[in-house]
Amino acid sequence: MDKQYWNFSAGPSKLPGEVLQQAAEEMLDWHGSGQSVMEMSHRGPEFTQICDEAEADLRALMDIPEEYAVMFMQGGATAENAILPMNLIARNASHSADYVLTGIWSTKSYKEATRYGTVRIAAQSHQDRQINGHTYAPWTWVPAFEEWKVNPDSSYLHFCSNETIGGVEIGALPDMSSLGAGSVPLVVDASSHFLSRPLDIRQTGMVYAGAQKNAGPAGVTVVILHRDLLGHALPYCPSAFDYVNVARERSRFNTPPTYAIYIAGLVFKWLLAKGGLAAIEAENISKAKALYRQLDSSDFYCNAIQPEYRSRMNVPFTLRDDSLNAAFLEGAQKQQLLNLKGHKSVGGMRASIYNAMPMEGVLALIDYLKEFERQHG
Ligand SMILES: *Cc1c(COP(=O)(O)O)cnc(C)c1O
Repeated sequence: MDKQYWNFSAGPSKLPGEVLQQAAEEMLDWHGSGQSVMEMSHRGPEFTQICDEAEADLRALMDIPEEYAVMFMQGGATAENAILPMNLIARNASHSADYVLTGIWSTKSYKEATRYGTVRIAAQSHQDRQINGHTYAPWTWVPAFEEWKVNPDSSYLHFCSNETIGGVEIGALPDMSSLGAGSVPLVVDASSHFLSRPLDIRQTGMVYAGAQKNAGPAGVTVVILHRDLLGHALPYCPSAFDYVNVARERSRFNTPPTYAIYIAGLVFKWLLAKGGLAAIEAENISKAKALYRQLDSSDFYCNAIQPEYRSRMNVPFTLRDDSLNAAFLEGAQKQQLLNLKGHKSVGGMRASIYNAMPMEGVLALIDYLKEFERQHG
């Protein structure tokens, strides 16, 4: 690949070049073991080292204490949307949980959970809302924490901290005590901004993320769970998805996605070498600021998200004139700017600028935005 391509895919998405380079070098023979990682026993000493190091590096990155289990699972965040109620909803006798709905992903999580118990909506942004004299469309704003009506004996409260399709990010965690629900654990789908910023795991009961957005390749889901929440699986929960089994066997109850865990482990090492989550967060803030500044600089482009909840990772935008969409995408492709087409449900464009996208890539996109506006504005 001689030309510089910039991949803005929402997921599976860009991985750090250094990680792919190292994986390529180790592909046929991992550390002189005579085997590719793909060919190793998941119970042998080599993979045991790879898996244990991945867990230890993730614990170091996120400062995860021993009271939390770290599990590498299969099925993506979609499967986790079922696995988590199967494991957690029976914590209370009424088998009930609360969900906050802020977009397409949290709504999917909610719908999946309704198959396993009584699920309430604690807050949602599915309607228009007037804020500071401006009307925000559904899924472009976030109900403030004070508006979240949490049942104090709910088994858990679920929300999605970064809506990948809508481009809506909730950067802080609610204080459950001040919501009158101090004993309700928070369960967070952090898939698309996992490891993009520090997250205080101690304020949560569980965080989960499909790796293919920001942490590795498709095939592995990271689940971080407070051990106090273990042991409530519904009787029909498959044993491979019972957190008790997965936690006890340290992700090797059955064969885990070994190669995906290995690549995610390399990403964790890459992040540690960069200085950890505070360092990558600083880069992510600069990248997002630069891109939003360009989008806001004229009315040729528009990002319609409530400003304080604009995602640093997924930046959806529309052109003033929809009939220019095809020309925009064609021109972008010519500049080696890939995968900028928006999700079909919202239309327009979307630039996903995950950890692995350097400022240089964002600047290439900004140059193209300027040039396209100059030609068509
Ligand atoms: C992509 C995504 C999912 C679904 O992930 P799959 O791996 O396709 O199951 C769920 N939640 C969020 C926030 C996502 O970005």
